Amino acid sequence: MPIYEFRCKDCGQESTFFTRSVSAALEPVCRGCGSRELERLVSPVAYHLTLRQVHERYGPPPQHASLDHYEDPRNIGREVEEKFRQWDVAMPQKVRDAIDAAREGTMPEGVDL
Ligand SMILES: [Zn+2]
Repeated sequence: MPIYEFRCKDCGQESTFFTRSVSAALEPVCRGCGSRELERLVSPVAYHLTLRQVHERYGPPPQHASLDHYEDPRNIGREVEEKFRQWDVAMPQKVRDAIDAAREGTMPEGVDL
């Protein structure tokens, strides 16, 4: 399953997209601001991830799940967690709590990052 990463030219956010096949149409939209002005990132690691590896890394989707990783509540906050890891900064407890709550189905009212 091809995995593509894009960076938004408007807000700089990076988004990852899965497609069902190489030939599938891909119309990426920024998850941060909704812009369609995205540039493709070369991402050798991501290209080589199989769906199985994605599931091992992030946990398998529910039985009924579509292939949209971001629809799975268990994946809420993964990118945030990853950023804190990359920065080697402890995640504030209110962020931790908000992510945990969101994964349990309670969308946060708003978190000041
Ligand atoms: Zn954007």
